[in-house]
Amino acid sequence: MDCLFCAIIKGDIPSSKVYEDDNCYAFLDINPQAPTHVLVVPKAHIASADEINAENSQTVANIFKVIPEIASQLGLGDGYRIVTNIGENGCQSVKHLHFHILGGKKLSENMA
Ligand code: 5GP
Ligand code: ZN
Repeated sequence: MDCLFCAIIKGDIPSSKVYEDDNCYAFLDINPQAPTHVLVVPKAHIASADEINAENSQTVANIFKVIPEIASQLGLGDGYRIVTNIGENGCQSVKHLHFHILGGKKLSENMA
């Protein structure tokens, strides 16, 4: 399977690591849309949040367990936003589930 984020997780494509554990990998977005822009991905390939189910939801739960630790490490005590894009209308460009952590400034109130 030809997946960019699986290649990043394997280390075949370099990335700037922010956090890693057995379940997930977090790294700087190559095209940041905020002063802090990190992507958190499950190590298991899940195509999008629309593919979350009873079998893989613990992986997603574990990501949400560590996001506050990652945000603290990044100095995002004043707040941040978690975004996941899904499919064509959601403008998802990489078909491996990822959560954007955006922060470091007052973000736009416009989400759509
Ligand atoms: P999406 O549009 O699918 O929600 O988000 C994909 C994100 O991956 C984009 O914000 C884009 O900048 C980021 N991205 C795409 N290719 C690479 C890459 O090779 N390395 C890194 N670090 N980020 C990437
Ligand atoms: Zn993948």
